[in-house]
Amino acid sequence: MSTLQSTAGKRRVIIAGAGMGGLTLAATLLQKGFDVEVYEQSSELREVGAGLWISANGARVLQALGLKETIEAINLSPEDRLIRFWKTGEGHSVYNRDAGASKVDHTLIQVLRAELQRVLYEAVLRQKPDAFHFGRRSVGAETVGDRARLLFDDGGYAEGDLVVGCDGAHSRVRQSIFGTAPARYTGAAAWRGLAPMGKLKPQHRQPLASTWVGPTAHVTTYPVQRQGELFVSFSAQVDSQTWHTESWSEPGALADALDDFKGWHQDIIDLFTASENLFRWGLFVRDPLESWSAGRVTLVGDACHSMTPYLGMGVNLTMEDAFVLARCLEQDGTDTARALQRYDAARISRANRTKADSLGMLSVFHSKELENPETAWPYIRKQWSPQAVRDRYDWLLQYDATTVEI
Ligand SMILES: Cc1cc2nc3c(=O)[nH]c(=O)nc-3n(C[C@H](O)[C@H](O)[C@H](O)COP(=O)(O)OP(=O)(O)OC[C@H]3O[C@@H](n4cnc5c(N)ncnc54)[C@H](O)[C@@H]3O)c2cc1C
Repeated sequence: MSTLQSTAGKRRVIIAGAGMGGLTLAATLLQKGFDVEVYEQSSELREVGAGLWISANGARVLQALGLKETIEAINLSPEDRLIRFWKTGEGHSVYNRDAGASKVDHTLIQVLRAELQRVLYEAVLRQKPDAFHFGRRSVGAETVGDRARLLFDDGGYAEGDLVVGCDGAHSRVRQSIFGTAPARYTGAAAWRGLAPMGKLKPQHRQPLASTWVGPTAHVTTYPVQRQGELFVSFSAQVDSQTWHTESWSEPGALADALDDFKGWHQDIIDLFTASENLFRWGLFVRDPLESWSAGRVTLVGDACHSMTPYLGMGVNLTMEDAFVLARCLEQDGTDTARALQRYDAARISRANRTKADSLGMLSVFHSKELENPETAWPYIRKQWSPQAVRDRYDWLLQYDATTVEI
């Protein structure tokens, strides 16, 4: 049975998942006059203790939601982005706020995931205080006539004009409309942690976003804040033939991390040692989808384009999806089928290209050339030359989900 009454006169969108995609979509749709109901499997918002990069393309969505100032208050933007040699920590600048290396905005917003989640959650609550239904696990979705249903594990359902699966990489909504999408292990595992600044040496306080590169691993580090308390967030990817589960919340052991980073600069070792938590998970890929929508059901975010983290684009593309979907629904009035066609046409090729480019970055970050300084420095200067950086990022960063033709 449908669990809620429709709000008179408004089109109602049922959202599965209160992650970055579900929250951005709910906030945008409410702003555009839709009614939303968000169903989240967890009993409360789940905090993933880690930092997050928001680039200019994602920031445009936050700005359109009126959240620019709130985000600025929790942001710790870097003054420079460095590629650093794994053994010595010497760095090559790829972006300097003052250098004007590219006409495209390469600014990074650096926040804690939990903080961004809170800001988006509050943006939804302000518009609809009873939008959230926690502890509701969906098992799939279906179209019935011109209505859509999100199905729950207790046999119930919620009905609306549209169901959107924002339920992450293991999406049950995706499985129910497109079948299972086998995940392939990429041969790399990821580590992440959050080290309190107070436990680290002074050099960690520098306002830098650094990617340390080595022959079989790379580590990205940057400062973030939680209510004025400073941390260094780090995520590391390491070649690993051992299979690990695809779950961001799988704890990892310090001894294993130290084993993976033997011979690395002490600053990296210190991050692992000082971290208040350590997680390790396997990096997987799925074949790109050719369609995201079927009937009155569609997908947003990792549910339709989970990707490797090498370009830092997962959340940025997710926010773009949400905003573009809301614009399509607004533009096509009650013609939901047309809106979903428009959404698929606007988004799929961009997401699939990003997914492929992101995977391709693994062989750039991990290279034999990086073993010794003699070969490493020419390699770093070539791979992260101003032109190479522009070719890699400009097309991603220039995209404006709020104005792009749909
Ligand atoms: C450590 C880490 C660092 C990252 N850093 C960056 C970065 O710097 N920049 C970047 O762009 N991207 C980054 N990403 C990727 C980015 O976080 C994801 O791409 C993004 O969170 C996807 O959002 P989503 O809403 O699609 O999925 P999620 O954020 O995974 O949210 C899915 C939600 O759905 C809920 N759910 C799942 N199944 C069900 C169900 N059956 N029923 C109801 N609810 C369900 C989950 O509990 C969750 O709340 C990072 C990821 C990780 C793990």
